Amino acid sequence: MANVAVANESNFDLLESYFKKYPDVPKETTIKQHLLSLGHWFSDAALNAAEGALVKSYRLFSYDLIPMSAFKRNEHRRVPEHFVVMGGPYNLAPVAIQTSLSPDSPYLIDVVDGRLVLTTDGHVIADIRFPKTPTYYAGSLPDGTPYHEIVAFATFITIFRNCQYWGAKEECKFCDINENARQMKLSRDFTLKAPVKSVADVVKVAEAVTADADKHNVARPGFLVSGGTITKTLHGKTETEFYGEYLRALKASNGKPRITFEVNARPREDMQFYKDAGADAIHLNMECWDRKLFEWINPGKANRIGWDNWVRWMCDAVEVFGTGLVQPSYVAGVEMARPHGFNSIAEAVKSTSDGFEFLMSRGIFPRPQQWRREPATALVKEAEQPPVPLDFYILLIRNWYETYDKHRAILPKFGTRKPGLLPERNLLGPVHGAYGDFALIVDKLHPADVLDQINRNSVPYENLEVDARVS
Ligand code: SF4
Repeated sequence: MANVAVANESNFDLLESYFKKYPDVPKETTIKQHLLSLGHWFSDAALNAAEGALVKSYRLFSYDLIPMSAFKRNEHRRVPEHFVVMGGPYNLAPVAIQTSLSPDSPYLIDVVDGRLVLTTDGHVIADIRFPKTPTYYAGSLPDGTPYHEIVAFATFITIFRNCQYWGAKEECKFCDINENARQMKLSRDFTLKAPVKSVADVVKVAEAVTADADKHNVARPGFLVSGGTITKTLHGKTETEFYGEYLRALKASNGKPRITFEVNARPREDMQFYKDAGADAIHLNMECWDRKLFEWINPGKANRIGWDNWVRWMCDAVEVFGTGLVQPSYVAGVEMARPHGFNSIAEAVKSTSDGFEFLMSRGIFPRPQQWRREPATALVKEAEQPPVPLDFYILLIRNWYETYDKHRAILPKFGTRKPGLLPERNLLGPVHGAYGDFALIVDKLHPADVLDQINRNSVPYENLEVDARVS
């Protein structure tokens, strides 16, 4: 079965056929995986309804299937960072989805009968909510840089906005960090110009976010510290020294926040250095489990670190951080990228599922995020990349859950977080993949008031006026 509808078949029929084919898989995760795979588009009315919503930050990668220069309605400064799909004719549990724009997608977010909804082929399949903007987004630094360009969605801090894995021989082939920074600059719609955020600015804005949470009497934020690789030095510091300074300063800031840190795998002593500096959990993002594909997809990581060291150092990191706190991401779908990826769904699923078993049995928590096929990436420039079959995503996430279930005693628990400034981010699964939602839905872990929490923190979603123009 293909991922996209063929002649005489609508996307709606295709989706329904997947619901029947995988009755044990939550419909919510199937819809989410299809929306992340094919992207989605916004009608004029839906863009108008996004007024006041948390705007997309483009904080790291673009996550769009279309370049910024192709937008005609200023979409990049209007669409929400993520949105919630829920309710509707299938009475769906809520799932939050990272916005990934594609005008060619069969999924359109629209306003129908005054309600904000998700449609395909003219069928309404769910209700939609756009999150309200937290108050701290209105703040700015003395040079005019908005606070949200320093800390996005109350969590994400991209310290170094570029990556020194540069060009075809080094850059990860699914990654558009450098191109995304370039297109943001060209658009002139973003304020932040320097590729490096200062320690003082990061601390100042992080404290403002914490103060915002205190003011609204919600859980204080934890921060995710990220940024590009430093192969030699930056500002005279090695990667370890450079990022260590930020970890120490953030940890000493008001609120003593929980810090998750994304960085290259390194030997055990460096892991200990990061932990001592303030990191509580570490994302050693390996991106692809298969050894050969790892070398093709991540040439910089493969040449400078290598598959064996990456895996060994993730295992060592568990001894430093503890079980469940080493959390590498995998770009789910690149296993099937052309021309060197697996040709069969079964082989691709098996390869990464074997990786899940290896990792989870050792207390490492793999996070399968979905590949978005961004146009400026090497993978998309070098070969035509059709959508990855939906069966791959469904089978992979089902295996992920089965493996998680087997080893859950040594892995993080879902459903334990308290709502913060953006409750959908604390109460629902991560926006970029379906693994968290699968566990929350199958294990029935959503809090009883989850819909109230989301509705209260959304911009208006019903009784909307529809513009007379065509969507
Ligand atoms: S390490 Fe790879 S994925 Fe990360 S920013 Fe650099 S090129 Fe992109």
